[in-house]
Amino acid sequence: MLAVPWSGSDASPAANHDNFLHCLSTSPAANVSKIVFYTPANPSYPSVLQFSIHNLRFNTSAAPKPIVIVTPQTTSHIQAAISCSHKHRLHLRVRGGGHDYEGLSYVASRPFFILDLINLSSVKVDVAARTAWIQAGGTIGELYYQIGTQTTTLAFPAGVCPTVGVGGHFSGGGYGLSLRKFGLAADHIVDAHLVDVKGKVHNRASMGEDLFWAIRGGGGNTFGVVTAWKVNLLPVPENVTVFTVTKTIQQNSLYLGQAQSLLPLLQRDFPELGVEREDLIELTWIRSILYFAGYPTDSPLEVLRSQVPLTRKRNFKAKSDYVTEPMSERALEGIWRRILRPDIEDPELIFSPYGGRMSEIPESSIPFPHRAGTRYKIQHLVYWEREGREATDRHVDWIRELYGYLAPHVSKNPRLAYSGFY
Ligand SMILES: Cc1cc2nc3c(=O)[nH]c(=O)nc-3n(C[C@H](O)[C@H](O)[C@H](O)COP(=O)(O)OP(=O)(O)OC[C@H]3O[C@@H](n4cnc5c(N)ncnc54)[C@H](O)[C@@H]3O)c2cc1C
Repeated sequence: MLAVPWSGSDASPAANHDNFLHCLSTSPAANVSKIVFYTPANPSYPSVLQFSIHNLRFNTSAAPKPIVIVTPQTTSHIQAAISCSHKHRLHLRVRGGGHDYEGLSYVASRPFFILDLINLSSVKVDVAARTAWIQAGGTIGELYYQIGTQTTTLAFPAGVCPTVGVGGHFSGGGYGLSLRKFGLAADHIVDAHLVDVKGKVHNRASMGEDLFWAIRGGGGNTFGVVTAWKVNLLPVPENVTVFTVTKTIQQNSLYLGQAQSLLPLLQRDFPELGVEREDLIELTWIRSILYFAGYPTDSPLEVLRSQVPLTRKRNFKAKSDYVTEPMSERALEGIWRRILRPDIEDPELIFSPYGGRMSEIPESSIPFPHRAGTRYKIQHLVYWEREGREATDRHVDWIRELYGYLAPHVSKNPRLAYSGFY
């Protein structure tokens, strides 16, 4: 695997800010079109910084702030920012949609700048070729919108929340409700454009298969700045079926077929859910995206283009686990006891079933090894609104205790996690 040495050193960084900005403003790319950047002296700096912060835990005055936020309009601006970063040893954080769970695209422990790709978000769908090119600052909602307005029989298997950015999402794998049918978003990437540490632009052919392998699941901000992804789109029927059954917990599902064929399967394999025909909703694939994103299914498709999430932003902390052996009822009861703790605001565990297509794809196909033998993934989450250190510590300690409790019941040696969240 080719790993490009990435990130500058922290040696005498303060002295390098001005040099970095001078380098940026005088680079040949800036002669063609102005490179827009925001320093803390600019009144728009706080709003540009905060717009794509999705975890309020990192939107505090104590969180380290970038020296400058660069918002490139072209690939040449990205090249210039990388070259100047390299030359003046200023650490770079690249930001796509800003959904990183630990704020890695906009927080660093040493002086840094943000390369914010928010203006590079166009999507080109080629229905005949069943492919799409997506600029790396785009969201999965924009991709869904562009597919859904051009065809009702093609789809793409990525995440549920439309504001998630393809920059980080595809770099870490990216999964959604059709994981068992189609695999991950990264399983369907067929080409990419990337700017390397020297500022050189590559496509799949010029970066080579090793690097192309690494960027599809190996994590963002590691091998260079991806500027665009090319993906294959997948065929779906005109109508798919969705349902939600509320028990003591909520169970969602997407079936790529019609209700009349789904119902007997559910009644045979999951009689305890008690699903009836009236629970099943048939709609097009793009409207199922609205359904799971929390929008009324007759909403205009334009809502998928919004970069503002439907639900309010909160503080959160998350972890993940993979499960290969069935978990005992006793172990599950221990989870319930923790979830019901009254001093924890909003705990949540999401169980995502694996198998199906995921078990057929070899674990070395891309850097995402959770394939055959994985039963399901658990995402442990806790949200809270109360401000301050005490509330943060209480909720973070809670999830750490839960994580410790789960150790005997999940994958071991090594204990596995989903890299796509970080
Ligand atoms: C509300 C919410 C819902 C989510 N739902 C899902 C889901 O359904 N399925 C799922 O799989 N995941 C989900 N995630 C996790 C999400 O996929 C990851 O956090 C992903 O990394 C976010 O990508 P981003 O571009 O929005 O984030 P960013 O914070 O911008 O980036 C994440 C990481 O990728 C790097 N990066 C971003 N762009 C580039 C680029 N162009 N080139 C190189 N590196 C880059 C960043 O530096 C950072 O390290 C969700 C997260 C949130 C907060």
